[in-house]
Parts: sequence; C-alpha cells; structure tokens
Amino acid sequence: MNMQIRLKGFRAALRERQSEITIVDTGLSQSQPDISYSYAQSFLEKYPGLDLFYITEGISAEAVLQAIQEAGKQEQVRIVCHDLLSAVVRGIEEGSIVCAISQDPQLQGYETPILLFNHILTGWVPDIPRILNSCTVVTRSNCNEYWNTYTDTLKPIPEHSKRVSPERISEKPVKIGFICPDNHEFWLQLIESAEQAKQVLSQANCTLDIRIMQFTTVNEIEQILTSLADQGFDGICLPIFDTRLVPIINRLSDAGIKIATFNTEPNSTEFSDPQLMEKELDHKISLSAQAEITHRTGKMYQSEREQRIFVEALMAVSKRLNNLLDTNTIFTILLEEIHRVFSFDSGSIFLAERDKVKVIQARGYSDKSPEAEEFMQTADFKLSDFPTYHEIVQTGLPLLISDTNNDPRWYPIPETAYIQSWIGCPICVEGKVIAVFSLDKDEPGYFTAQHVHQLQAFAGQAAMAVRNAMLFSELSTMAKTDPLTGLPNRREFEEQGSSELKRCKRYNREVSILMLDLDFFKSINDNYGHAAGDSVLKALSANLRASLRMADIACRYGGEEFVVLAPETHLSGAAELAERIRVRMETTFVSIGDETITITVSIGLSSTNGRSCSLEQLIDEADKALYAAKSGGRNAVFAWDTETVTAEKQTAGKHISTPEVKTEEPT
Ligand code: GH3
Ligand code: MG
Ligand code: MG
Repeated sequence: MNMQIRLKGFRAALRERQSEITIVDTGLSQSQPDISYSYAQSFLEKYPGLDLFYITEGISAEAVLQAIQEAGKQEQVRIVCHDLLSAVVRGIEEGSIVCAISQDPQLQGYETPILLFNHILTGWVPDIPRILNSCTVVTRSNCNEYWNTYTDTLKPIPEHSKRVSPERISEKPVKIGFICPDNHEFWLQLIESAEQAKQVLSQANCTLDIRIMQFTTVNEIEQILTSLADQGFDGICLPIFDTRLVPIINRLSDAGIKIATFNTEPNSTEFSDPQLMEKELDHKISLSAQAEITHRTGKMYQSEREQRIFVEALMAVSKRLNNLLDTNTIFTILLEEIHRVFSFDSGSIFLAERDKVKVIQARGYSDKSPEAEEFMQTADFKLSDFPTYHEIVQTGLPLLISDTNNDPRWYPIPETAYIQSWIGCPICVEGKVIAVFSLDKDEPGYFTAQHVHQLQAFAGQAAMAVRNAMLFSELSTMAKTDPLTGLPNRREFEEQGSSELKRCKRYNREVSILMLDLDFFKSINDNYGHAAGDSVLKALSANLRASLRMADIACRYGGEEFVVLAPETHLSGAAELAERIRVRMETTFVSIGDETITITVSIGLSSTNGRSCSLEQLIDEADKALYAAKSGGRNAVFAWDTETVTAEKQTAGKHISTPEVKTEEPT
C-alpha cells in the first residue's frame, strides 16, 4: 500500500472542493537529514513563492531549516510542523503555498491519527476548508524527532501577511469526541496524537473529548456514541476495531450523527473521507472497513471450524462470566474456557499489585512435575525480577515469547524449565493492568499471533466481568458502611447482629449489647462547629476499634450513638469492656484546630442472660440502661437487670449501686 492510497481521503476531499491544490507525493522511506535537505532544496527551487514548510515526524526539520537559510529565504519561508490543521491554526496565510511533507508509509500507522484529525477537521470545522482551499499544498513524505524542537521555534509571521487568527477559524465552538479502545493496536499513538490535536484544537475554538475504552465494549461504545450525540457533539471519530460496530455506526449516521471511522491496521489504512457525514460515503467506508475486518479475521484462522470454536468459547465465557461477582471464579472459568480453544501445557493467572506479582490461578502444572506445581502454589515474586511480566504491566500489551531459549526477556526458572514458548496477556480494568494470564507450551514456536488475538478477546471479557465484580463489591461496601467512621451502618449491624445472635443461641452462649452515646455532644457542635463534632465521632470509633475483639460487631447506630454486639460475653464481661471504652474516651484528647478537648461517653448494657430474646429486645434494654446512665450523671456504664427490670450502675463489671431509674418491662 503506498502513499497515494493512504492520502486518498484527504486529497479527494480537497479536490472535491475544486481547489487549486498541488500535491506532490514522493515516498521517502528513511529518516535521513540528507534527503530531507535535498527535498527541501528542490522545493525551494521549484516554488520560489513558497511561504511555509509543513512537516510531520520523519522529516529532519533541522535539514529543512538549513536549506531555507542557504536559500536566504528565512524571512519568507516558515516551518510548520506535523499537520495541516496546526498549519491553519498557527497562522497560515490565506493564499499561501504550503509544503506538506508527510511521513513514510512504511512507518505504519503513526501518521494515521494525525491525518485523521486533519481530515475530520477540514470537514467539520468551519473555515478550515476555505483556508486550505485558498492555499497551494505541496506534500512530500517522511521523518521524526524534530517536531518538539521546532514547534517552539516557528518563525514569527511576517507583519504584512493576512494571518488567519485562530478565533476566526470557528466562531461557533466545535465539540469533537474521540473514542479509542485501549486494546487497539495503535491506541497509545492514537491517544498521543489525539492529545496533540486537542492542544491545537483548543486554539481553534474546538474541544476534543478523548474517551479511552476497554476492550470489546461494543455496547458501551454505542452508549457513548449516543450520549456524545445527545451532548451536542459536532462529530465523533473512532477506529473500527470490531465488525459489530459497523451496523451501530450506520444506524447513528442515519440518525444524523457525524461519525468518522478509520482503520489503522498496518498497510490497510483507509480513511473515511471528510464528507463522511454524507451518508452514502459513510456507508461505503463502513462497508469497506467491514470487508477489511472480515478479510483480516478470516486470514487468522486456518479453518472455519477453528474460528467457530473460538467464537463459541468466547460467547460461552461471556455468558458464564455474566453476573459473576467473585474474581476468583471469574479467573477459574477463564482458564477453563481458554483451554477449550487451544491446548497449552500449563497456564496461570497472576495478580499484579504495585511491584508484586502473585499467582491466583494455575492449571496443568501438576501434570508437568511436582516441582512445577509446588512453585506455582507459592509463586509470589517481584515484578522487576521478571522482564516479561514487567513489560506487560508497563505497556498493557500482550507479549509472545516464541522461543524461551532465544529471548533475552525470558527469565528461566528451573521448576518450569519445560516451557519453550509462552504468551502473557494483561487484564486491564480502568486502564490499569490488574492481572496477567500466561500460557506455557513445551514446544518452541507453538504460540502465534492468532493465539495472542484470541487471548486478548478473552482478557477483554474477563476485564468486563472483573470490573463489574469490583463495582459491585464497592457499591455493596458503600451500602453497608457509615462513610464518616467506616463502621458498619445500622442496617448492616442488624443483619450481622441477628445472625450472630442466632449462632450464639444455637450453642447456648451469652450475647451482650453495648449502647453508647456521647455526652453533651451537641455542645461540641455548637461551640466548635460540625467538623469538630465529626472528629469526636471518629475518635469514638477509633476507641471502639482499639477496644473490641475481632468477633465483636460495632456499628454507628445513629447520629452520635454507637452499638456493639459482643458474642459469647456475659453481662459482667460486657461491663468490663464498657468501662474500658468509657475510661479510654475520658482520657482521649481530640485535636480541634489549636485546641484539644475531651469528651465522655455514657454506655447502656444488656445481655441475653440465659433468655431467648431478639436483637431488637436487647437493643431496647440497652437503650433503657443508657437512658439511666444519662439520668444518673453521664460518663457512666449502666446495665439492664432482667430480674429487677431496672438499670443499675456498673463499675468494672461490679454492681455498685442501687437501681436509679425504673422503666417498664420490655414486651
Ligand atoms: P446527651 O449527653 O444528653 O446525649 O447530650 P447531647 O448533646 O449529646 O444530646 P443528643 O444526643 O440529643 O444530641 C445529639 C447531637 O448529635 C445532635 C446532632 O446535631 C449531633 N449529631 C448527630 N449526627 C451528627 C454527625 O454526623 N456529625 C455531627 N457533628 N453531629 C451530629
Ligand atoms: Mg444522642
Ligand atoms: Mg449525646
């Protein structure tokens, strides 16, 4: 595929506007300053009126500059780097002759996004076509590195020129969405280019909203496309990476949404034309993309049967993973389903956490050797020790080691010396590699690009399932927890407490309840503010955490009331515990700005005491005891006495005073 075809969309667009455009297109295959220099020289000779050099990566800007200086044209000719859009935004004059040198097609893919943004913008941003149409564009291909240097050293625009000011490019703000799946072969480059385009666009009253998507989220892409359209985006561009997108894009285009698609497979770059928004063309492009993908996918499988097994396994895994909320099960199913598609000797899934990698699933190692099995059972190593895992986690991309004996990245381990070829594939959630799964084979050259492709598809399914599971667990934790103190909330306490009470009943064990309420807490809020009140609440919860055993269940019951259920605990034990909490609170200094304050707590106790009663009843009794503690002067522990049906003051578990408050017997 040559440059002619690669530039087809762009050039056709310019031609269609019947502009006076000259495009010279000669392939330049290497990044060579000499060649850049000689081309620049020949352009300067051929076009004496040349105003501006437009160059992309691959061209030595230094060499071009040298040619300009030698021709004594530094006052006349400016260098504009990278893309025509920035040429326009950076102040191309109307009627200029522009020399656009673009990159070598052999460098596959990298220039694609730049051209993509160019052609989308020439189609979508008002005035850019007009400006470009008034210019003569000369292009030449090729090379890198100087972009950064030369964007800063653009020559000042001559005063007499009719510079097109960025504000004039578009009076109305233009919003463009760019969606990129993070599994896309060129996604990093696409994002990088999109980021560059974003900066340039911001000068042209254009915003570019970049969304990076997880793999195989066709439905999500549909949702995003629709929501971007609802949010008034003027156009959306995305790479076609999945045939299932084609009908969706067609439907949305039919509904009037401007969508530009492209395909950045090496040697198959086919841009949608800037007039893409015109239905007919859009359809054509989509069809050609579809044909391209079908063709490509078709090539990957030797037989129709192979492909069918893969698709079936992928569907099965997606179905089985759907609604699974436990990551371990997700990973077990994943390895099982992959095994259905192609055979491997052993396979494992590692969790990646900071600099650690830990095995969480392993399959097939016991068949190889007891040593291999034992190694996998305990494998827990530093990421930096293994170049393969390190690379996967760093790049987020799969890695294929065709021959472990001849790849410097392979770190041999005696226990798994049988491994001759290897694939590792990341599972990415929200742009982060959370796990890596790896497959081993005792045959060099066994794994191929097709395996990588298939594994990526599985990884995408797993990533979605893991993300759902994570989201679910986050939501369910949120639903159960008090956000201020991090303690369980009342509902969660009632659930956990009831089942603990039942368990103790079954084994004839006592259960005690502590109900705590801060003394004169309102005055803390009144005198120091609500934030100070919150600090006190956190201090009490920290006190509880420090005082309780693992088995005790504490919760924030309401505003400044806390309840604790102490399983297998008699009233006397509970009184000791309560006293410990009371004293700890009394002696805790809480910092409020420059001041420190102390606050006390009153505690009411109740206990099953051989009875069979409900959690509700126990809480009610503890509440009555708490009320007695408040009436009895606060900063005290009172317990409900089931015999006398009164609350009594406690000290270190010893009953020291007569009943203070009489209350009705609970029902
Ligand atoms: P008493 O010794 O009788 O318990 O006196 P008190 O001032 O503590 O009285 P009461 O229990 O009636 O007051 C509870 C106060 O707790 C009222 C409310 O403003 C405050 N409160 C409830 N929830 C929060 C919270 O989340 N943060 C803060 N800062 N204050 C809270
Ligand atoms: Mg209260
Ligand atoms: Mg209170």
